[in-house]
Amino acid sequence: MHNPPLPELAVADPEIAGLVEAEAARQQASIRLIASENYVSTAVLEASGSVLTNKYSEGYVGRRYYEGQQVTDPIETLAVERAKALFGVEHANVQPYSGSPANLAVYLAFAQPGDTVMGLSLPMGGHLTHGWSVSATGKWFRSVRYGVRADTGRIDLDEARDLARAERPKIIFCGGTAIPRTIDFPAFAEIAREVGAVLVADIAHIAGLIAGGAHPSPVGHAPVISTTTHKTLRGPRGAMLLSDAEHATALDKAVFPGLQGGPHNHTTAAIAVALREASAPSFRDYAHAVVANAQALAGALVERGFDLVSGGTDNHLILIDLTGKDIGGKPAAKALDAAGIELNYNAVPYDKRKPFDPSGVRLGTAAITTRGLTPAHMPQLAGWIDDVVKAASTEDTAAIERVRAQVTELISSFPMPGFA
Ligand SMILES: *Cc1c(COP(=O)(O)O)cnc(C)c1O
Repeated sequence: MHNPPLPELAVADPEIAGLVEAEAARQQASIRLIASENYVSTAVLEASGSVLTNKYSEGYVGRRYYEGQQVTDPIETLAVERAKALFGVEHANVQPYSGSPANLAVYLAFAQPGDTVMGLSLPMGGHLTHGWSVSATGKWFRSVRYGVRADTGRIDLDEARDLARAERPKIIFCGGTAIPRTIDFPAFAEIAREVGAVLVADIAHIAGLIAGGAHPSPVGHAPVISTTTHKTLRGPRGAMLLSDAEHATALDKAVFPGLQGGPHNHTTAAIAVALREASAPSFRDYAHAVVANAQALAGALVERGFDLVSGGTDNHLILIDLTGKDIGGKPAAKALDAAGIELNYNAVPYDKRKPFDPSGVRLGTAAITTRGLTPAHMPQLAGWIDDVVKAASTEDTAAIERVRAQVTELISSFPMPGFA
């Protein structure tokens, strides 16, 4: 059963209640390896589902356009102060609705339409909002892209430097959505300084690792930091913009009134709760355990003959290149899902297949670490992944069923928050 329970919803809208219950049961029953997902605490769920959703509060603390902010102001203040303390930044804006609008606010703050911007190419691990062609950020700005080295699978800093010198971008994004290795923030800072660009560290994926001391921080290198709150940081769906004092006003104006109306106060409260959780000593243990699990899983996959982009991982994320395995990323992901192992198909650098059926799958250990799985479980998990990928290429559904039964047995002894 969903926890907190949903008795009123069950009466008022049995169809939706049934689907929410089904999703809770599905999340409980699968090994969730989607690198951008996690399980929030019941406390975060309670804050997200609160009456704060009823309140409008356009503006910022002490400068609102609506009355009745006696309670919303202290809530937003708590979220902002906790974000500043946790990441060690001078300024935090907790209002962006999600990671993509947060990034759009960065463009609005520091570039004009048509200006040149630079980011990691999407098929190389960058995010859509770093100037990819189908995104507004690629349509309204002139985007140039650096990539990863073909031989190492790691970000090509020489290419990034040469491109920045030649193109003089206004904004440089570092970070991405499928990067298994540590981001070299000091190196990007040097490039940005040389060409006079604003360096933006998009830490959406790794924010929880940074908060927990398991990945170097961009603070002191990137004056602007964009992050979601719902990936390794383990908060509600939302985002934050963190910055030094110099860039604060431009960011605030870009979020509101530049891009958004009223902030989502229920989300702000839930972000505050998640930030408090992330400042506890146990969250440091969690962040390091996420990396330990990813490295153990990567090692076990390599032992099984899988080819990993960059050969392994420094963070929570692993990108498997299935090129040598006789199967595309999409059928592999579908077979794994049928076996109760959830991940996503993903392009790999220099992919020869099409984006909707690329050569890779991406996985991450943030969610399974929250469930309590440890490095000791990773050889077994790698074995199941291997069995299912083999079974998928030979269409052996019985083998997939056998893995499904074992997955269910293991994961059912690791309770998830949000289900009782
Ligand atoms: C997930 C992600 C985003 C976008 O977040 P949404 O909340 O899905 O809009 C932005 N940048 C990076 C690097 C991401 O991984």
